Amino acid sequence: MKKTIKDFNLKNKKVIIRCDFNVPIKDFKITDNNRIVMSIPTIKYAIDNGAKVILMSHLGKIKTEADKKKNTLKPVALELEKLLNTKVKFIPFTRGKELEDAISSMNSKDVLLMENTRFEDLDGKKESNNDSELGKYWASLGDIFINDAFGTAHRSHASNVGIAENIDSGIGFLMEKELEILKPAIDKPKKPFIVILGGAKVNDKIKVIENLVEIADYILIGGGMCHTFLKADGYNMGNSLIDNDNIDFCANILEKYSKKIILPIDLVVNNEFKDTKGIVKSINELEESDISMDIGPKTIKLFAKYIKEGKEIIWNGPMGVFEFKNFEAGTKGICEAIKNNPGLTIIGGGDSAFALKKLGYEKDVTHISTGGGASLALFEGTTLPGIDIIPDKADDITNFKKKTF
Ligand code: AMP
Repeated sequence: MKKTIKDFNLKNKKVIIRCDFNVPIKDFKITDNNRIVMSIPTIKYAIDNGAKVILMSHLGKIKTEADKKKNTLKPVALELEKLLNTKVKFIPFTRGKELEDAISSMNSKDVLLMENTRFEDLDGKKESNNDSELGKYWASLGDIFINDAFGTAHRSHASNVGIAENIDSGIGFLMEKELEILKPAIDKPKKPFIVILGGAKVNDKIKVIENLVEIADYILIGGGMCHTFLKADGYNMGNSLIDNDNIDFCANILEKYSKKIILPIDLVVNNEFKDTKGIVKSINELEESDISMDIGPKTIKLFAKYIKEGKEIIWNGPMGVFEFKNFEAGTKGICEAIKNNPGLTIIGGGDSAFALKKLGYEKDVTHISTGGGASLALFEGTTLPGIDIIPDKADDITNFKKKTF
């Protein structure tokens, strides 16, 4: 168990909280404030317990000076003020005198947000490459570090790993909840354990497949991914998206785990990649000009049968091009099947989380992860550097015993 914000006395302490405020912004207006809303419990707890709260986050990618203008965290400061109902002092710098002076003049319960941590990437990718001086510098601004940014936990950046290497650290409530649900779901899954994988490419999910195929009872594969599996199984996929480099990988998986991998039996195809009405074809009927855009109605029924039996369901990646109205039925069908399952149902962030919300099923699952990449890393069985660096509660007890006896 990792140390959490509750394990610290925060009163009058400068508490740096690394949040995930990487929200969509258009014309300086936040179009979806969910990530900010999710960060509020940890921030509120720090305020209520008398901390001097220093917030930091990345936003988008910073490759040029021009990127800085559209990726400033200023709109986030304004949104935070509304949600917290308190003043949030925004400092438009990631280092320097103005930031340091503002921090030294903070009182208990004050809240400060510094500028986008990735502004440091313009100078040799200091943030994203976990530059040791930068991590040390940011750590020097506070007394305690709380990492609540699950979305970047799979990355080793200066603003998560770098700071934690230098000061006493713990995790926040959002991070704690993600770990409480996702870790046991992978380490000790409830059986039957059903994994649903979709999305565009096999390549992004090779390690997930390799890891979960050992643990899961069944893996249902849809989305663009299924074409490469079906091609490896000898079917003509016409003009559909294929991951040619991974046909052998799919063939091997199918050979080794033929009973566990469940592939579509019909698909909805179109003759152009557009939002126009498609036609349903069995997987052996595709012609050269066909582009598979979604799983078909028989496949939805087949997948629903497996989902119904599952005590634990993990889903990552939409079943079709759900962004097009004509090809959302597969993803919607799976949402419906998951909604009817009373067991543990987990959505692994990213596009599947977006699809679920878009189609109105947000409230019908046990957990929607806030981190696409981070949850995939857990599904791959790899560790998360942003969390690994945080000490365990047990470490502290051991140290305490050593010191006392
Ligand atoms: P990922 O980020 O790998 O989860 O991929 C999500 C993307 O996969 C979405 O934008 C979907 O439109 C896309 N996708 C799903 N099914 C298909 C398909 N049959 N052909 C092409 N793209 C697809």
